[in-house]
Amino acid sequence: MSLIVHKYGGTSMGSTERIRNVSKRVAKWARAGHQMVVVPSAMSGETNRLLALAKELQPAQVTPAVMRELDTVAATGEQVSVGLLSIALQAEGVDAVSYAGWQVPIDTDSSFTKARIRRIDDARVRADLAAGKVVVITGFQGVDDGGNITTLGRGGSDTSAVAVAAALEADECLIYTDVDGVYTTDPRVVPEARRLETVSFEEMLEMASLGSKVLQIRSVEFAGKYRVPLRVLSSFTDWDIPIEQEAKSGTLITFEEGLKMEQAVVSGIAFNRDEAKITILGVPDKPGVAFRILGPVAEANIDVDMIIQNVSNDGKTDFSFTVHRNDYPRTLDLLRSDVATATGASQVAGDPRICKVSIVGIGMRSHVGVAAKMFRTLSEEGINIQMISTSEIKTSVVIDEKYMELAVRALHRAFELDGEPAVA
Ligand code: ADP
Ligand code: ASP
Ligand code: MG
Repeated sequence: MSLIVHKYGGTSMGSTERIRNVSKRVAKWARAGHQMVVVPSAMSGETNRLLALAKELQPAQVTPAVMRELDTVAATGEQVSVGLLSIALQAEGVDAVSYAGWQVPIDTDSSFTKARIRRIDDARVRADLAAGKVVVITGFQGVDDGGNITTLGRGGSDTSAVAVAAALEADECLIYTDVDGVYTTDPRVVPEARRLETVSFEEMLEMASLGSKVLQIRSVEFAGKYRVPLRVLSSFTDWDIPIEQEAKSGTLITFEEGLKMEQAVVSGIAFNRDEAKITILGVPDKPGVAFRILGPVAEANIDVDMIIQNVSNDGKTDFSFTVHRNDYPRTLDLLRSDVATATGASQVAGDPRICKVSIVGIGMRSHVGVAAKMFRTLSEEGINIQMISTSEIKTSVVIDEKYMELAVRALHRAFELDGEPAVA
């Protein structure tokens, strides 16, 4: 007997018919003798719908008090899902019980809309499992020390599932979604993308952080930290396929060190259209400038991604960085009002219509010329590179958003990742 955690995403929970299918699949695993914990997301589109309602009423200034209420609203989507799934399981003859995050409880910090899980109390869940119940726990939500409902950021149900699996020392965490695994790039953008049988934890971490939303980055971090066996697979296969076949399908995240002989140099291509670029022109080039620009940005709890500072010209330099597009207006305001004056900069400019395209692969450690090949491929397509950043196993570029698909397709081809068109 194994303890298994299943996670079902929004599309997989998208209608009562689909929820019934999920319940049949879970019932199949439970009847095979496994202890089952299921973590569903809100029904597809629901979180967007709830947040859009809140936006209609939202004041211009999104204060921490408003953020608290946004989480109260957004978390309801998952509460509906766990209730419906438990009812469907009971209709299948399975003894099931649902819990919201606060009932488990899943303790988080108080960073509303992007809270981090601190601790999961597994006593209640373990008691239910011991009593032969299937336990259905809300994805995406938790509770802070003050008893306030929090959410874990968009796509956060992946993280809930992996964190629950870590807390329960589950034998495996299976992430069921609307594609049948992790692909070389988003198969909805490049139909020739290929499914990967396995992907290393490090590569998955990079791909998730660089925009492949198939797994939320924090779920991959948890899986790495607690060595949770993690697999991404389709919820759209027939629910009654044999468990042994289902358990081997999709993509396994592996923790093996080292490079396999046949490993491609570049394993995948990620992209992200959620960023915006800010440039501060004519900043005096002297010690402390980067801190004076980015200090207030950090204080405002705005995450900064890529940063470049040009060489100085006449004692002045230009400084560029990227932030999440949602934070763009706030960052621009902040810089224009305070920082520009404090640093003596001549101008603050911005561009929200950029995107980041990245190549990822463990093989990049041991091969030279990979970045050069990326730059050549983009130049052959006439695409201008605005910013570059590299690490051991990835190279990212910022380009004009309108060239994103062209760039991803060209790179996918150039690094010989193209295969037969994917079937979702
Ligand atoms: P869920 O609702 O199940 O959590 P998401 O929409 O969050 O599903 O994530 C699955 C989606 O991720 C896929 O439909 C696909 O479009 C997208 N995606 C992006 N990059 C990749 C990739 N490399 N491999 C597979 N899917 C990817
Ligand atoms: N329902 C949440 C969202 O739409 C969490 C998730 O789907 O993982 O972001
Ligand atoms: Mg998701």
